[in-house]
Amino acid sequence: MKYLPEKTLIHGESLEELEAFAKETGQPKFRAKQLTEWLYKKRVKSWDEMTNLPAAWRAQLEESFSLSAVRPLFNSESKDVTNKLLLQLGDDAFIETVLIRAPMRGVGQKDSRITVCISTQVGCAYGCKFCASGLMGWKRDLLPGEIVAQLLEVCHLEDDRTPRAKPEIPSFDNIVVMGMGEPLANYDNLMKAIRILNADWGLKFGARRITVSTSGLVPQIKQLSEEDVQFRLAISLHGATNKVRAKIMPINRKYPLEELIPAAKAFALKHGRMLTLEYILIEDINDSLEEAHALTAIAKQLHAHVNLIPYNKVEGLSWKRPNVRRQDTFASILKKAEISHTIRREKGHDIDAACGQLRLKEEIPDNLDGVRLEF
Ligand code: SAH
Ligand code: SF4
Repeated sequence: MKYLPEKTLIHGESLEELEAFAKETGQPKFRAKQLTEWLYKKRVKSWDEMTNLPAAWRAQLEESFSLSAVRPLFNSESKDVTNKLLLQLGDDAFIETVLIRAPMRGVGQKDSRITVCISTQVGCAYGCKFCASGLMGWKRDLLPGEIVAQLLEVCHLEDDRTPRAKPEIPSFDNIVVMGMGEPLANYDNLMKAIRILNADWGLKFGARRITVSTSGLVPQIKQLSEEDVQFRLAISLHGATNKVRAKIMPINRKYPLEELIPAAKAFALKHGRMLTLEYILIEDINDSLEEAHALTAIAKQLHAHVNLIPYNKVEGLSWKRPNVRRQDTFASILKKAEISHTIRREKGHDIDAACGQLRLKEEIPDNLDGVRLEF
């Protein structure tokens, strides 16, 4: 299922590609740079606003490119500090982007830190048993322009809040690639999008503040190790023994822990950055003391930080999160072993901030027909 938009999405084009377009249309090379200023620094929403570009060229741009890859449909604001954007794509598929504001108690000019969680696919083929995106199967990969456009939507939201202080560099602090989809299954488009986000002419967003989360695609993790990438990697572990992990994450049957752990270690050694292990706590499924000890051993081996996430209820699934005492008991095993860890007492619970849930509710039941991988 490949999606070919009617017009090329301009936010998915590299500077070289825009320069090539300028050349083809008889414009000097610097026009491409001027164009990117409008796209990423001033972040205008229409061609008309690009006043220093010749009108005839603007018309040519409009004919060849689309300026809006996504259409915001719904912005739900939770009682705490989360915005969840439901975005409609050109082919009427839906994705979601989540904005999380964490209040900061320290000194400084900012009173909150903003993390944006983006999607990379429509649905997901990996079928993890606890995940709403997995339930719905895979529909298609997002194009680079659709990945970048999610960040621009968030910029628009922030720019509209403070129209007079539109910063050249976006006002959010972190990007986590933890929304719908498996990012490393859409490797090339993800890498192209990250290069645009990171480029000086693009959003100029520091790669070190981008975290890509994967369910453990070993060949792609190996491929990543060979690239000159600065972003952080998070591994969705959720089970610290093959027995438990394979039960809830089918991908573990293809790439079991004895393959995943060395690949993750090689990445960490090559890039010198601390890995994060994500671990959802699900009552009676993966929250035993044995799993806590096994998780401790893996975290030690990888020198990784562990992020414990109390399970977020998914409609249609009977699982639930362990009570706080049980969560704390699990965490105490890590603490005793001096493993760096956090428990995410997560934000946005009242608007279902876990991946895939909002969209799933919009589409139930007739769209549960995506592709699923069998392992
Ligand atoms: N496919 C990638 C990235 C998207 S999932 C991956 O699996 O890492 C993003 C994160 O949301 C993952 O850590 C995933 O395990 C978590 N998640 C999925 N369903 C959840 C739920 N019901 N409650 C809490 N976290 C959930
Ligand atoms: Fe896909 Fe990640 Fe959800 Fe698993 S947890 S189904 S890999 S999005």
